Amino acid sequence: LFSTVPTAPPDAILGLNTQHRSDTFTKKVNLGVGAYRTAEGEPYVLPVVRRVEQALAKDPSTTHEYLPQDGLKHFCDLSAKLILGADSPAFTNDRTVTVQALSGTGALRVGFTFVARFLSEETAVYIPKPSWSNHKNVVVQSGLPPTKEYRYFDYGTGAVDLEGMIEDLRAAPAGSVVLLHGCAHNPTGADPTKDQWEHILQVVQEGKLVPFFDNAYQGFASGSLEEDAWSVRRFVKAGIDMLVGQSYAKNMGLYGERVGALTVISSEGGNGEAIRSQLKAIIRAMYSNPPKHGAMVAASILGDGDMFAEWEGELRKMADRIRDMREKLRAALIKNGTPGNWDHIVKQIGMFSFTGLTAAQVEFMKNKYHIYMTSNGRISMAGLTNYTVEYVADAMKDAVVS
Ligand code: PMP
Repeated sequence: LFSTVPTAPPDAILGLNTQHRSDTFTKKVNLGVGAYRTAEGEPYVLPVVRRVEQALAKDPSTTHEYLPQDGLKHFCDLSAKLILGADSPAFTNDRTVTVQALSGTGALRVGFTFVARFLSEETAVYIPKPSWSNHKNVVVQSGLPPTKEYRYFDYGTGAVDLEGMIEDLRAAPAGSVVLLHGCAHNPTGADPTKDQWEHILQVVQEGKLVPFFDNAYQGFASGSLEEDAWSVRRFVKAGIDMLVGQSYAKNMGLYGERVGALTVISSEGGNGEAIRSQLKAIIRAMYSNPPKHGAMVAASILGDGDMFAEWEGELRKMADRIRDMREKLRAALIKNGTPGNWDHIVKQIGMFSFTGLTAAQVEFMKNKYHIYMTSNGRISMAGLTNYTVEYVADAMKDAVVS
């Protein structure tokens, strides 16, 4: 029965991990997956997370009982406040429903399933070109038609192609869902300026589009949780229908614990119970209820002033190390005389740099130097260290001049 099942294509990003793991070359470097690494290149557990985990393990009242389908209420309330701001207008008139989700991907998956069920049958979903490679998959597996793309990145200037973006969004039919990266756009590291966000909002409002904000990097772009939530909060202020996904993978380092949230904000309000009941029904059939441990850890930190402040300090340190690596990589490329202008490496923000390397150059670096990155030339800056930055810069030079 199963003998004719074809092999699925490997995931563009996760497939790199497998290749890197089986590579026996000692100087191999993994710049593929966006996971933070210390200055020594090791995975990092935030000290505040470790302490909370130890306390939870010792606490006799900690149990492994099921959570409700929509997750830990305390966690959801704190998450909504984190992204929307404690005094958000979205918290009035029963306009906001937040459910726990399986990290950022799970928030998108539940959110798009909700969109597929309750928005117009012809709902088109627009994602930026380029975007995180999994967006397309999530949208289609949620029962929606294949995604459409809006122009986002100007390869010439290395900045947002606002004109192209506006033109494409203006052409989108009313009711279409527009996926927006709240900050630290993946893979380009180019975000709209505040003025540009205003313009985008105007087009979204005029065209009656429904924004779905994907926030996988709150705190990682600028180092400030508040600043990185600016775009979402600005749209919320406009009083429109929208969806907001959150992930604690990067900013709390809870990658494998799958901690995230989905918030549905409706312009009219008054229908929160019905919306929540539908989200719960979707979750019930998909995985019944979310895991508890990571949400308890995140809620403990979000709900305690001292721990929250410590977390913010940690976030700034992580963002600073990434910025430092940007400076060092650019400096090494200048020092070794790699042809081209590498200023974009320090201008881009977030976890990644969109280097401009071609697919052929990426392949060359993998084969000759055992350096792994996605074929679009995106590198995870957190994967670089003081020990590897020159090796990578020299390999880039070889790739560029070859
Ligand atoms: N959206 C974007 C733009 C991302 O970069 C990522 C992580 N790479 C995610 C969502 C989801 O990550 P997770 O499910 O691990 O939270």
